[in-house]
Order: sequence, then structure tokens, then C-alpha cells
Amino acid sequence: MGGDSTTVPKIRRIAVCDLDGTLVDSDVALADAFLALGVQRSEITYGHVLADECLRLGISVGEYLNVYDPSKIAPFPGVTELVTHFDRWAICSNKHAVSGAAELARFGWSPEVALFADSFIGPKRLEPVLDALGLSSSDVVFLGDTAHDRQCAQSAGVTFALAGWNPRAQAKPNDVVLSHPIELLELLTG
Ligand SMILES: [Mg+2]
Repeated sequence: MGGDSTTVPKIRRIAVCDLDGTLVDSDVALADAFLALGVQRSEITYGHVLADECLRLGISVGEYLNVYDPSKIAPFPGVTELVTHFDRWAICSNKHAVSGAAELARFGWSPEVALFADSFIGPKRLEPVLDALGLSSSDVVFLGDTAHDRQCAQSAGVTFALAGWNPRAQAKPNDVVLSHPIELLELLTG
């Protein structure tokens, strides 16, 4: 009663975000790069470690990066606004470090921690991100779009939020499914 309804709730938890398929729509850039190298469209999958995927498809990472066009990548609607609300935040991505860092620079995003494929032995994990932030699992929410992202969160004991704006994201029964990026703020303030 008598409270200030314009007060913005304080952010209590830190967002750790996947990049491709979560903050940015990079499907066209990824698919076009593989298609340019002669890969059949039916062979293309998403959300994997690039080096593993290139090995599976019989091409080199260098060839892929040569034809990869980052100008075909754009933030999903609402993501640019979401990021403006962050103070501390982090990226945890399987993306190649060079293209990942270039993407962050292009969009003017400056997460406190950004770990890409070269930071992990095998697929990404959240534990090194928590270590780098100096935070525990209850201090963060992980926003992702794939089954592996969900697994990363579960393994680290971190709350997972599914990027439901990606039409390829498949919800599991207990998922927190967000339909718009700005809804993440409710999780961070709650
Ligand atoms: Mg992803």
C-alpha cells in the first residue's frame, strides 16, 4: 500500500546465456556455411561443438570459418533490450571463440565472462563459468535452447530457462519455458 509502482525490481541472480539459438538466430549463417562447403541440408544439425560437427561432416574448421558470414546473424527480437538490463552476466557457448568474440563485439555486448569452445575439454559446462564469476549455482540462471543446455544446468545444479522463442527449442515437462526474452528478468528478480 502506497508503494512506488514504478520501482524496478532488483536483479538478484545473474544470467548465464547460451549464444547461438538462444540470444541470436544464427541458423542461416551456420547452414549457409555448410551448404557452401557441399554439405547436404539434411545433414546439418545445430547446437554442437563446431570442431565435432566439422569432423562428422568431413570438413575442416578453417574451411568453415572462411565461409561463415556473421552478418547473417541477428539477435532474436527482445534480446537487445534484455541485455541492457544486465549488470553482471555471462556467456557459455559451444561456439568457436573467434566467431563468438566477434559476435559479442558486433552487438556491443560485454558480458563479464564469456567462455567458448576453447575453454572446455569437450562440450561446454557451467562449472567453469561459475568459477570465473565467483558465484555458486543458486546465484545464476542459465538460459539455453537445447537438451545439452538443460543437461549443463542440471549437472551444475543451476536453474534452467528454455528460450521458447526459438522454434527448434523443445520443452521438457519441468522446464521453465520463456516465450519472450524479457521474461528472463522475472526469474532473475524473483
Ligand atoms: Mg544454442
